[in-house]
Amino acid sequence: MALMITDECINCGACEPECPNTAIYEPGVAWKFSDGTTLSGDLDFGEAGVINADDELEALNDEVYFIAPSKCTECIGFHEEPQCAAVCPVDCCVPDPEYPESEEDLATKQAWMHVS
Ligand code: SF4
Ligand code: SF4
Repeated sequence: MALMITDECINCGACEPECPNTAIYEPGVAWKFSDGTTLSGDLDFGEAGVINADDELEALNDEVYFIAPSKCTECIGFHEEPQCAAVCPVDCCVPDPEYPESEEDLATKQAWMHVS
């Protein structure tokens, strides 16, 4: 499952540069699928609709850093453990129960975002 950042976050910024998927954003900042990935053009999410990779999507938190769950792979494909959780000084990067995904799902997501 994707990770989430809780309200315990102290906005230190340590996690943001560690994310291999550029899934972590500053509070209030719009996020894009194309940031730090090879995604481009229209992305078809079936019944959920079509989103362009360069669309600026609404920040998920205006107070503390946030993780875009659609881009988080638990670092699968890059690292053996979630890097945000590893560096966070207050241990506020935790699994997000709203996004249950298997390791296979996460590996598929990683491959989708990073075409070599
Ligand atoms: Fe990024 Fe990894 Fe943290 Fe997910 S677990 S937000 S991919 S650093
Ligand atoms: Fe917040 Fe932890 Fe990231 Fe620092 S490392 S910005 S406290 S989530």
